[in-house]
Amino acid sequence: MLTMILVSIASCLFLAFTEHFEKKLKISAFVCLLTVNVAHIILFFLAGFSDPGIMKRNENSFGCHDTFIKVVHKGIFKKTRLCETCNIAKPFRSAHCSECDNCVLRFDHHCPWLGNCVAKRNYKYFYFYLILVNIHCLLLLVFLYIIYLKSFVMEKKLIKH
Ligand SMILES: [Zn+2]
Ligand SMILES: [Zn+2]
Repeated sequence: MLTMILVSIASCLFLAFTEHFEKKLKISAFVCLLTVNVAHIILFFLAGFSDPGIMKRNENSFGCHDTFIKVVHKGIFKKTRLCETCNIAKPFRSAHCSECDNCVLRFDHHCPWLGNCVAKRNYKYFYFYLILVNIHCLLLLVFLYIIYLKSFVMEKKLIKH
């Protein structure tokens, strides 16, 4: 989290002190970057602190240690895995996260940066967070390219005189 805030501050400071942008371009670039930064920090919090889809534990033990059990789903017998820690039958695509010690619906992975699972309920926040981080990087690349071009043109002018 601290790293992300520091990167955001550094990128805003970089824009604030560059001399290669005119005032109008500088303000619009700054607003653009600040909006993206604030949006991805909000999404980071939403993904990190929202419930990813944790399933309630069953206090009563199943009394069996088979890895698979048969359940009736919409009138059809289906084989499903059993979580011996949570004492529940795991639905399709769910998994037990060893870090959070919970069964999570539509489990994708446990993100060490978020400190939370990425699963059914926070997947959309995580997805948009990644998109915004990429947009942030692209914006910085575009700004750097503009600065490079402007300094290149200025250098040429100096050589001519
Ligand atoms: Zn479990
Ligand atoms: Zn987890």
